[in-house]
Amino acid sequence: MKRFDKDGLMIIPTPGKSRPEAGKVIVIKECYCQHGHSLVSNRIKFGQYNGLALAVRKGSAQGIVALSPVYGEKFRVSIDVNLEEGELLTLLCPECGEQLQSYGPCSCGGELKVMFTRPVADFNYCVGICNRVGCPHAEIKNEGQLMTLTLYDSL
Ligand SMILES: [Zn+2]
Ligand SMILES: [Zn+2]
Repeated sequence: MKRFDKDGLMIIPTPGKSRPEAGKVIVIKECYCQHGHSLVSNRIKFGQYNGLALAVRKGSAQGIVALSPVYGEKFRVSIDVNLEEGELLTLLCPECGEQLQSYGPCSCGGELKVMFTRPVADFNYCVGICNRVGCPHAEIKNEGQLMTLTLYDSL
């Protein structure tokens, strides 16, 4: 079985209750902004895993959104800001306050923003997340290989 421990990703075999076709989940253990600030928060737990915390801005409102580190899971918690499905957000690093870098357009018309799975800004090791609330699109790149949902399902 392939594990991506060194690159901040972890693949965990599951009993496959919720996803019988997959049987494995990918968990993001580490991720960083382009300046190497960790976006993993041990103050926000999703089950046994630490959540990912991003600062978000919409209009004049600013808050924090916590995301599940389990790839494909849409669970999220927002603090100080109300999110509505379909809204486009500005995603920022909570540490340096800089906008996350763009990875490319999302098929929904939003923008994929990048979090790196190593403390250096290397697009070969990154997670792309759409800035539209509720958009299920996310991509993980590891060793230059794009792990799409299709690849995920066939692991
Ligand atoms: Zn930062
Ligand atoms: Zn999208």
